[in-house]
Amino acid sequence: MNSKILISSCLLGQKVRYDGEHCLQDHSRLAEWMKSGRTVFICPEMAGGLPTPRPPSEIQPGKTVNDIFAGSGKVLTIDGEDVTPQYLLGAQKALDLVQKHNIRVAILKARSPSCGSKQIYDGTHSKKLTDGMGTTAALLTQHGVKVFDESEIDLALDEAMSYK
Ligand code: SF4
Repeated sequence: MNSKILISSCLLGQKVRYDGEHCLQDHSRLAEWMKSGRTVFICPEMAGGLPTPRPPSEIQPGKTVNDIFAGSGKVLTIDGEDVTPQYLLGAQKALDLVQKHNIRVAILKARSPSCGSKQIYDGTHSKKLTDGMGTTAALLTQHGVKVFDESEIDLALDEAMSYK
């Protein structure tokens, strides 16, 4: 069984978050997958060309990720800079990776405007959450990848193991 998973780099301890920190997950089963070369990692925001640290960004208030894909919405930093192209490029690079490695399952960091799969911040930069996905999570989902977050690591690994 050689299934691989895609995982957010920050969940593996890489200091790629907007604030220069990481969100390392201490999870023995995940560590085994890493040791055996079955994890492929990416930070979509850095892959899209953004630096670390960087100003926090959110999808515009009232817009969804589908608006971003349709060109009728933007991802903006807290300073109002448009970083939509970098977010879209990072999502495409994540998609390229899953297609290259035939990946069906991803574990992506919750609540990120790139990686969030259930809720994201509402665009007001006031820590308020709203239902919705980030750009990378949405693009992968649209292409048949099952996206989990860091609270569902066992579930994600079980799912990945069901694929030959
Ligand atoms: Fe990068 Fe995603 Fe982690 Fe944000 S949540 S730092 S985009 S890997």
